[in-house]
Amino acid sequence: MDRLIFHVDVNSAFLSWTAAHQVLVLGQGRDLRQIPSVIAGDREDRRAVVLAKSIPAGRCGVHTGEALFQAQRKCPDLVVEKPDYPLYVSASRAFIALLRRYAPAVEQYSIDEAFLDMTGVPDAEDDPVGFAGRLRDQVWEELGFTVNVGVSVNRLLAKMAGDFSKPNQVHTLFPEEIPEKLWPLPVRRLFLIGPATERKLHYYGIRTVGDLARTDREFLRRQLHRQGEVLWNYAHGRSGSAVTETPALNKGYGNSVTTPFDVTDPATARRVLLSLCETVTARMRSDGQTGALVTVQIRDRDFTDRSHQLALASFTDVTEEIWRGACRALEELWDGESPLRQLGVQVSRLAQGCPRQYNVFDGHRYDRLARLDTAVDAIRAKYGEGSILRACFAGSPIPPMSGGLHPERRTGVTRPLPPG
Ligand SMILES: [Mg+2]
Repeated sequence: MDRLIFHVDVNSAFLSWTAAHQVLVLGQGRDLRQIPSVIAGDREDRRAVVLAKSIPAGRCGVHTGEALFQAQRKCPDLVVEKPDYPLYVSASRAFIALLRRYAPAVEQYSIDEAFLDMTGVPDAEDDPVGFAGRLRDQVWEELGFTVNVGVSVNRLLAKMAGDFSKPNQVHTLFPEEIPEKLWPLPVRRLFLIGPATERKLHYYGIRTVGDLARTDREFLRRQLHRQGEVLWNYAHGRSGSAVTETPALNKGYGNSVTTPFDVTDPATARRVLLSLCETVTARMRSDGQTGALVTVQIRDRDFTDRSHQLALASFTDVTEEIWRGACRALEELWDGESPLRQLGVQVSRLAQGCPRQYNVFDGHRYDRLARLDTAVDAIRAKYGEGSILRACFAGSPIPPMSGGLHPERRTGVTRPLPPG
């Protein structure tokens, strides 16, 4: 029995939500969606990147994720609006609430995307495209922004369909349409293929999704291991995962931050890592997870990324213990002076309720630290994130907790689509 899955994705979410608010709530005549415009951070802030763009801005060659000054060079009369995260959180809630009226199972996938399991809904099964179109129109009428809806039999194909032409479109990608609609696309468009994997595939002469689908599966398994097999399945449109109401557990917990200045000394770098470890481990503790592998990632001024992993002595969720591991990983990765502009920490190899392995050196010290973390978590939950901070952050330009875009968003779970 085939399932019927919709992927619903807000078009240029941050820009659409700011525009809808300006037009519908503030009564402004100008609609950002009709003119070259972007959502980006402060003009003065070197971290400012384009978070969302209007279609007219896209026509000038502006890309999401590029530096604001580059976008302004391409498009001199670009209108720049700052992000409004509290607005986005409430728009997202209204969006998901509307979807729940139409679908028996809704899985929010990111702030502006959700999977809907429409299996067994008679109107949707009789005419999936008509139903998806009515859903799209309802979002526009009630909430004032456009969405793309992708329709298929699993999440992978529905998501790929939702990424076809935008905005305000309904697309299907049923298994029988794969050769015609999916295979001509460049491999880069396939879910989970980033620049590094794309380069590897190009090296083997695999340029389109169809090339990948026709490649010998054993060959891919030998060259790319498990990922090779997953990608081969993806190219054939196979993804077994069902839409679940409860989000699956994270494979890892990570955060990264672009620093407002170049980091050129180890003390500052360690402090940035600590502020990242604070948010990462707080999320782990609230999910009851411990981890045994810490990865540090750094990006230097010419946007080269490097990372290094370090296995911890025990499964842990203790901020200081993970931070010490991160500092050792950083030492092996970085010369301590070449300027860094981004740092990240990830904890993986997760386990739930794993007993600590004690050794003679730590002398149960981490039990005390764990109690300290619990107390700090409770204070922050009650009085807010800023209510308590480590002394080293007092008066420092580094925030005591880093990573993610905004405190409200840090609580949101984002995770990769489960393979298969
Ligand atoms: Mg979107």
